[in-house]
Amino acid sequence: MVDLNKQIWSLAETALEEKESSYLLSSYLEEHGFSVQRGLAGMDTAFLAQWGCGSPRILYLAEYDALSQLGQNTVPYESPIAGKNGHACGHNLLGVGAVGAAMALKDYLQNSRISGTVALMGCPAEEIMVGKIKLAEAGYFKDYDIALTWHPDSVNQVSEYRYQAMYSVQFSFYGKPSHAAVSPEAGRSALDAVELMNVGANYLREHIDPGARIHYVIQHGGEKPNIVPAFAQSWYYIRAPRNEIAADLFSRVCDIAQGAALMTGTKVETEVLSSCPATFINHALNNILREAFEVVGAPKWDEADFAFAKKIQEHFPLEQTLSQIEAHPRLYQNKTCSLDTEISPLAGRPFAYPASSDVSKVSTIIPTGQIMVACYPIGTAGHSWPITACAGMQIGWKGMLTAAKVLALAGRRICEDPDLLNRIRLGS
Ligand SMILES: [Zn+2]
Repeated sequence: MVDLNKQIWSLAETALEEKESSYLLSSYLEEHGFSVQRGLAGMDTAFLAQWGCGSPRILYLAEYDALSQLGQNTVPYESPIAGKNGHACGHNLLGVGAVGAAMALKDYLQNSRISGTVALMGCPAEEIMVGKIKLAEAGYFKDYDIALTWHPDSVNQVSEYRYQAMYSVQFSFYGKPSHAAVSPEAGRSALDAVELMNVGANYLREHIDPGARIHYVIQHGGEKPNIVPAFAQSWYYIRAPRNEIAADLFSRVCDIAQGAALMTGTKVETEVLSSCPATFINHALNNILREAFEVVGAPKWDEADFAFAKKIQEHFPLEQTLSQIEAHPRLYQNKTCSLDTEISPLAGRPFAYPASSDVSKVSTIIPTGQIMVACYPIGTAGHSWPITACAGMQIGWKGMLTAAKVLALAGRRICEDPDLLNRIRLGS
């Protein structure tokens, strides 16, 4: 598992480009008896590996996409690798951990002669909210009883996060070009429309759900200052804690885009690139995961791990660590800890989480459980160099192996006791 992880960490392939990473994972499963189907739902880097037959049908979800420009050496200080992408969300660990779980459950079923199907869905492009959305639309999840996955984190817990519903939308404005100095009156600036739309969206922020998030980049803003830009384009992520709130917010942002087009005499085209619902939490499945996590235990850190993590923590403000500690009553008891050594109890209710994940889409189709396993220091910001660093060394590997064991054990419990599946279906 560690060797496989090292290779995928080094490849650091970004969304929909994960050719070698997906091949490494799918080939590994193929070599170990799984039947593999590559290229799903129009995505070359998606795959499905399957072993066994009959019920229960347990599906592990793997991700393996990296982030642009976040390449970093495995040292506890910022040491970027120029021009290199990096696993700053730890999806290298995620993918290999899921493969480990599938392998272990397959071995168990094979040796114990208990019936069941173990499958692993290779889900590309989580970072742009595409992989599981397309796979879901193509009907790939509905044939399984449950889905299990995990994510690297700084805190050991079974996820009760309700990720936000999200729309990924591109706004393309079309104006009229002209010489910006000689005949500006003949031009209509698409860039003006993009700017005015952003101003409108920023005023909108005061009057929306406090948990909602709106963020954007300008993808095209014109070519040269002496040409009135005839084409400009922005890309928005619009998120809210519930599906209806997100839908309403999306429609208000579209109105703002229309207003900006009207103000500037341009035309706007709106394209929804992807959208995802909020997470549906299955408490019965979470209870099974929590019990399995307790049996496996939190990752066991040695002195070198704590020292590495402490050094990393010195590079971000104390407030960042403290605000995370304060969000977790359990961590509050041991404020000086750099790496989590325990497992959070279940609260039995969802927690609103500002980010989104395409795992949510799966959770609305089949019961889906996710655990979070410590793979980097407490207080670490998401998508940052410490995660790339830890995802390529022992701290990340320990988290990954813990995750593989917990997910395998939860799968085993469900195979051993068919009644659990009924409880999961009832959700309680
Ligand atoms: Zn991630």
